Amino acid sequence: MASLTHRRIVIAGGGTSGWMTAAALGRFLDESWQVTLVESDEIGTIGVGEATIPMVRNFNAGLGIDEAAFMAATQGSYKLGIAFEGWGGFDESYMHGFGLVGRGLGLIPFHHYWLRARAEGLAGPLGDYVLNAVAGYAGRFAHVQRAEGSPLPPLPYAYHFDATLYARFLRQFAQGRGVVRREGRIVEVRRDPHSGDVSALTLADGSEVAGDLFVDCSGFRSLLLGEALGVGYVDWSEWLRCDRAVAVPCAKVDPLVPYTRSIAQRAGWRWRIPLQHRTGNGHVFCSAEMSEDEATAILLGGLDGEALADPRAIAFKAGRRETFWERNVVAIGLASGFIEPLESTSIHLVQTAISRLLDFLPSGPVADADRDSFNRLAVFEIERIRDFVILHYAANGRVGEPFWDRLRTMDLPEPLAQRIAVFRATGRIVREHDELFDVPGWVQVMIGQGIVPERWHPLADQASSADLKGFMDTLAASYLRDAERMPTHADHIARFCPAGELHA
Ligand code: FAD
Repeated sequence: MASLTHRRIVIAGGGTSGWMTAAALGRFLDESWQVTLVESDEIGTIGVGEATIPMVRNFNAGLGIDEAAFMAATQGSYKLGIAFEGWGGFDESYMHGFGLVGRGLGLIPFHHYWLRARAEGLAGPLGDYVLNAVAGYAGRFAHVQRAEGSPLPPLPYAYHFDATLYARFLRQFAQGRGVVRREGRIVEVRRDPHSGDVSALTLADGSEVAGDLFVDCSGFRSLLLGEALGVGYVDWSEWLRCDRAVAVPCAKVDPLVPYTRSIAQRAGWRWRIPLQHRTGNGHVFCSAEMSEDEATAILLGGLDGEALADPRAIAFKAGRRETFWERNVVAIGLASGFIEPLESTSIHLVQTAISRLLDFLPSGPVADADRDSFNRLAVFEIERIRDFVILHYAANGRVGEPFWDRLRTMDLPEPLAQRIAVFRATGRIVREHDELFDVPGWVQVMIGQGIVPERWHPLADQASSADLKGFMDTLAASYLRDAERMPTHADHIARFCPAGELHA
């Protein structure tokens, strides 16, 4: 049975997930623990994870990282949400903004009032009542403080950043807190002949890195969990059919928008992520429907500025490992599974896996019950995120394109099918346990992509039409005013966290 008697933790891989893990362990474990990270410059990292969701701020804050310093070091920009263009229909777009839809209104969520107001012709599009969407489309950003008890929402935000620079930033942080970095290619994963646990990693120069607990951050190959321990892969490509991406950075353009753009294409979608020094671009596509050459041509044809590198192709398969913790190996990041970056959830999954690892850190032998709980929580979390991402495909409005037509009629995972049916019939979203996406996220995507409920909550009938209209108009006007008072995104960055010149 695995035991952490010597408190030696070995992290295999130094991509975003490896260095995030190393930084957190370095920050929270004292010197009785020995944390070593092995990475290979020969192999490199994926390094295109550039868009995040608001919880990443908790991760940085937990490490004690100063936001302005982090933003400057990673060429970061702010993100208020994701604009989905061409998903609900060829010419339609909506924003999935972070934070509230509308504002707190007593017993029932705002969108029930909006549904009634919309049906009576008293309200504009849902996005007019989402502060993040209003500020986002206006190109504005500020750190909004609200007085305690204010019914108005704050302006929740996340970051766009250069993932390679983030890993470098965290590497410095982790090494400053006792984490030892070993450069070298892992050529063998050694296992204890009696227990079957992983005992050491053998590097190409013949040296060994021994440990008690191993964190597999080796990327898609899943060197320890998948290859050495033979943990299988649960394939989700029946729902998530995209399996390739081409990525290329281009020169930045003005204005610097405070949101990610996701632009639907014939057999996938393109992303556009604004950073201070450049724009990140990619085209996620289904290789059964489109060749890499065509996907690359579409990507390059849609750039805003001059390409700054050769396009890079990445193959992937949507899914997860059957278990995330097996014997004395915990997989974090791409080694544990992958959902395409449509809702920017991968780095978040890295972060929650790290918290879970810290929660379940054994003080002696690893209990099977602990491992089972860890795996159950991890599976629940990633499957609900999977469903949210599938929703974007299932509810598309791109009639006449074979890739999208098939997706509208596919069989869905049961929890998602049920959620859509309940929302269609009642306007209700029931959030289960602490699944990542909350009511406002589901509502924005469902309505943004054309799933409009047949009814709303009966309490929404209790206001008069005049009161309802007054409320809707006042709220939309106050969000517009709020946004107008904010500086432009570019001005805020110039004042708060300018990156300056990038030195390699
Ligand atoms: P990798 O980056 O692949 O790192 C693996 C590490 O293991 C490397 O250091 C490598 O050198 C090391 N390694 C591997 N084999 C060996 C060996 N034999 N010996 C020694 N070392 C070895 N996430 C987001 O949150 N937002 C996004 O916008 C986003 N966009 C994405 C777009 C695409 C197209 C893809 C594919 C992913 C995207 N992601 C995004 C996911 C994100 O990039 C990853 O979750 C994140 O980079 C973590 O990757 P990783 O560290 O697990 O793996």
